[in-house]
Amino acid sequence: MTPPAFQTPIEYLKGVGLSRAEMLKKELQIFNFEDLLRHLPYKYIDRTRFYKIKDIQPDLPYVQVLARLTHIELLGEKHTKRLVAQAIDDTGVIELVWFQGIKWVEKSISVGKAYILFGKPGFFNGKAQMAHPEMEPYSAEVLQRKGNLTLQPAYNSTEKLKPYSLDSKGISKLVALLLEQQLRQIDENLPLYLINRFKLMGRADAYRNIHFPADAATLNEATHRLKFEELFFLQLKLLKNKLLRTQKFKGNIFSVVGNYFNNFYEHKLPFALTNAQKRVLKEIRQDTQRGVQMNRLLQGDVGSGKTVVALMSMLIAIDNGFQTCIMAPTEILANQHYQTIKELVGDGFIEVALLTGSTKAKDRKVLHEKLENGDLKILIGTHALIEDKVQYKNLGFVVIDEQHRFGVEQRARLWRKNNIPPHILVMTATPIPRTLAMTLYGDLDISVIDELPAGRKPIQTVHFYEAQRLRMFGFMKQEIAKGRQVYVVYPLIQESEKLDLKNLEEGIDVMAHEFPLPAYRISIVHGKMKAAAKQFEMNRFIKGETQIMVATTVIEVGVNIPNASVMIIENAERFGLSQLHQLRGRVGRGAEQSFCILMSHHKLSHDGKVRLNTMVKTNNGFEIAETDLQLRGPGNIDGTQQSGVLDLKVANIITDQELLMLARTCVEGIFEKDPQLALPENQILHQTLQAKGEGLSWDKIS
Ligand code: ADP
Ligand code: MG
Repeated sequence: MTPPAFQTPIEYLKGVGLSRAEMLKKELQIFNFEDLLRHLPYKYIDRTRFYKIKDIQPDLPYVQVLARLTHIELLGEKHTKRLVAQAIDDTGVIELVWFQGIKWVEKSISVGKAYILFGKPGFFNGKAQMAHPEMEPYSAEVLQRKGNLTLQPAYNSTEKLKPYSLDSKGISKLVALLLEQQLRQIDENLPLYLINRFKLMGRADAYRNIHFPADAATLNEATHRLKFEELFFLQLKLLKNKLLRTQKFKGNIFSVVGNYFNNFYEHKLPFALTNAQKRVLKEIRQDTQRGVQMNRLLQGDVGSGKTVVALMSMLIAIDNGFQTCIMAPTEILANQHYQTIKELVGDGFIEVALLTGSTKAKDRKVLHEKLENGDLKILIGTHALIEDKVQYKNLGFVVIDEQHRFGVEQRARLWRKNNIPPHILVMTATPIPRTLAMTLYGDLDISVIDELPAGRKPIQTVHFYEAQRLRMFGFMKQEIAKGRQVYVVYPLIQESEKLDLKNLEEGIDVMAHEFPLPAYRISIVHGKMKAAAKQFEMNRFIKGETQIMVATTVIEVGVNIPNASVMIIENAERFGLSQLHQLRGRVGRGAEQSFCILMSHHKLSHDGKVRLNTMVKTNNGFEIAETDLQLRGPGNIDGTQQSGVLDLKVANIITDQELLMLARTCVEGIFEKDPQLALPENQILHQTLQAKGEGLSWDKIS
């Protein structure tokens, strides 16, 4: 429809009326013509096939049966009054029941005749039954009449809508009305050259056929067209935002590579970079010379070496006279980055400072001064970095670690610290499937470190049931005897915190019994502890004073203890895949062979089994992310809320990945040739985008 027609309030559709319009708004959020047009069938009832009575199962949806009426009888009185009939085919008997409209039904059907019965089958006293079936006298012409042999749409409705004749059938009638009255108003919104290139069905046809398909092939074509349209405009909007941003916001130009970088590279870097690390550095280098603000997402599995890439990029910023910072989601992680970076740069090379909630006021004051006058070039910390009091002289490069924990607003705050916004590198160890990343971070550039440093031994993962617990203990002892350290992780899920704590306490008791002092020492860290106590326990483990760390998932992110080579996950079936992968990533950081043992109960759900099998099968974070997406759907992946993928009505980010790629490539091609969408053939896109509204959305400030 043309935009104004689309927006016509639903009460103006002839045949709807005010009270029904009210109900549609309340119950289904159908406010206008477009909402109704886009209230798509959730399934289609196949009226192209007939069931034999003996094949009818209680769990079948609507079925169509060809049968002859053998008996009609009026039963019961008053409230229990009902009309019962019997019909047969060559395989069995089916009972038909009516509780309402009895008189009318009785008059309109007759014993001895054949009918096409249509309805939801049930079973009563072991007999197939159908309540209130639709009945149509059978004849050769009826079968030939095309209308009867199609896929019938089924629409979502609610109990409250039924008294208003707005069940699935009623809604279907409204949609038919809408199409009848407005079909010619449904305008094409894709350029002709795309329609031709991809052999797409026209838009009006597609809507007509997705509601009332002539046959399965036409339905497919219609669905394909609407899916493509949806994904295409999602990508068009995302990439348009990106273009706008690059046009609007200048970026600092890092024109030289100077002493800091070169000295580090030649004298300090303790290993050769992997090819993937080199490639990402090059990508960042290119981004920071263009005069446009960089917004880059760096994805890399745990242990792939993102930190050193971040550091080297920061050194280039410093070589160009800028300050830099790394922001981490927790104090423990900030601390660890601080230690790592200090170790990497060594003494007397450059000052590195830490700023967290625990930084003393006195030290904080000194830090603030050094930031304001530009003396301090590398600051590492938590949210404390973005408090208003913290002013930089010239912040040029910001690294955000594990971005899922930072809200959009926080990123925006960081971003306002300068006239020209700093370049931003977001690092995440939670790989996101490529297609989802393209949509979630559609306007970010994406770098991937898909290669682990050489010589790393892949972590070996096994799944043990409770009955193998003694074996697990034996294995722990064997590894501890070799000087290794072991994590034992318990789930902590909000809803059942008490139970979890009990679990943890029992677990600790068992552990303490199995691994007694003085031979063994155990650190314990859980969410209920004060930060200082956590830190203390953590440090004992880091220093090697304890051999076992029993913890809840507080150790999930980023902690790096190379000597810890065994990860035991209790109740592993209760963790999500990405969490399991994160946890496993805590080991495998040193030179030793590392192990992960997934402990679980014997009873496992289907998904639970898939998760554990996936973990045993692969160490590849992207493969795991892909499975996770399949299992959980996009709605449960962090970040999807704001991304638009959840607004998709026809397309599905999981099953339509190929089409998404196609739409993406297609949009990229268009912007390459015509960034302003100014060419005559692209006018239509420009208009559609404007009609859809281009408000400044969150993705512009990330
Ligand atoms: P990530 O943050 O991606 O999980 P880190 O940056 O913490 O990974 O790196 C993990 C470990 O690997 C660190 O001890 C780091 O010093 C080391 N490392 C990084 N890059 C290399 C490399 N190219 N060769 C060998 N070791 C490396
Ligand atoms: Mg890291």
